[in-house]
Amino acid sequence: MSLNHGREQLAIPGPSVIPDRVLNAMHRPSPNIYEGELIDITASLYPDLKAVARTRQSAAIYISNGHGVWEAALRNTLVEGDSILVLATGRFANGWADLAGSLGIHCERIDFGMQSDADPERLEAALKADTEKRYKAVLVVQTDTASSVRNDVPALRKAIDNAGHDALFMVDCIASLGCDRYEMDEWGVDVTVAACQKGLMTPAGIAFLFFSEKAAAARARAKPGLYWDWHPRANPEIYYQQFGGTAPTQHLYGLRAALDMMVQEEGIENVWARHETLARAYWAALDAWGSRGAIRHNIADRAKRSRAVSTIETAPEDAARIRKWTETEAGITLGVGLGFGTPGSADYNRRFRIGHMGHQNIPMTFGVIGAIDTALKALGIEHGEGALEAASKVMAAHGTKG
Ligand SMILES: *Cc1c(COP(=O)(O)O)cnc(C)c1O
Repeated sequence: MSLNHGREQLAIPGPSVIPDRVLNAMHRPSPNIYEGELIDITASLYPDLKAVARTRQSAAIYISNGHGVWEAALRNTLVEGDSILVLATGRFANGWADLAGSLGIHCERIDFGMQSDADPERLEAALKADTEKRYKAVLVVQTDTASSVRNDVPALRKAIDNAGHDALFMVDCIASLGCDRYEMDEWGVDVTVAACQKGLMTPAGIAFLFFSEKAAAARARAKPGLYWDWHPRANPEIYYQQFGGTAPTQHLYGLRAALDMMVQEEGIENVWARHETLARAYWAALDAWGSRGAIRHNIADRAKRSRAVSTIETAPEDAARIRKWTETEAGITLGVGLGFGTPGSADYNRRFRIGHMGHQNIPMTFGVIGAIDTALKALGIEHGEGALEAASKVMAAHGTKG
């Protein structure tokens, strides 16, 4: 006997909830790939993608997930034997570094652990110590999806400039693009890595690289090979070169619908503001629960938290119990304690994550908070009261000053 006979909700940090408009736009037979509407739709995507990444520079599209563009970013700028500096703040920069290592690139890592952002002063010191300028690139993730820390990208840029270092600055925005404020050009980023299945609300399968003139110049030495080469994708003479082969036809229609919603209708500033308020609603609920018992956000300093995902710590085993309860009894799937120990370990089982990226509104937010609140009561987990009330107040104040 269960109450769970209604619409289900995925609240993991990617893939995110796909709007019906995106799904409906994709539900069509394959179009002509040589002329007609698809060609025009594809051309229309670039300006809107650049509006989301806040860049006037080059953009290339790949049929891949995030891992594919991690590799493409490296292949277009580096060669085997190069050295790079990786700032690790959770799971994902380490994953990118592992991939670089598999290509024969020498990675030096500064690991800030699972609860801190990358320290610009340590970056500056590491670059100043690199007197021979061995580091060809600095890699960082804007939002680490495991720790839910948000790195201060402009402060890291300033550290590179202060050190007078000419390494390329590469930022993984796969979790944060279209959720957390991001200003590629203003912040002086050379390569931005992104994918469609998180803030961009489209089924996994297309990914993006945005790159500066300086990064583009590195390609001549890097010799990426025909398939991963970003140049023909960003500067195609023939349509198919944009994808290195057949276009991801239905995906492009889906992405067009997503960008209509985000860029043409809501506006990217409003998209960011909505994510900010909904994230703060979750944080207010966490503070209420945490007023008694062990529940707390993984990142103590609100200024360092992502607006796309929240990682939550509980008493031992409680996170695993909450996840199981919300999935089976409420139809809400929460994220696992990725990056904290191995699956099933004590560290892992005391963390869960909430994805609040992309297609999110007040009832969806209440759905997740309400399901967790009900789970805490049903499971007898100690917690403070008033989480829904606290979240409600934050959302009620959206758009007002105060
Ligand atoms: C999801 C994610 C990735 C990996 O993307 P895939 O599409 O699964 O390859 C990389 N970096 C960050 C920050 C992510 O959130």
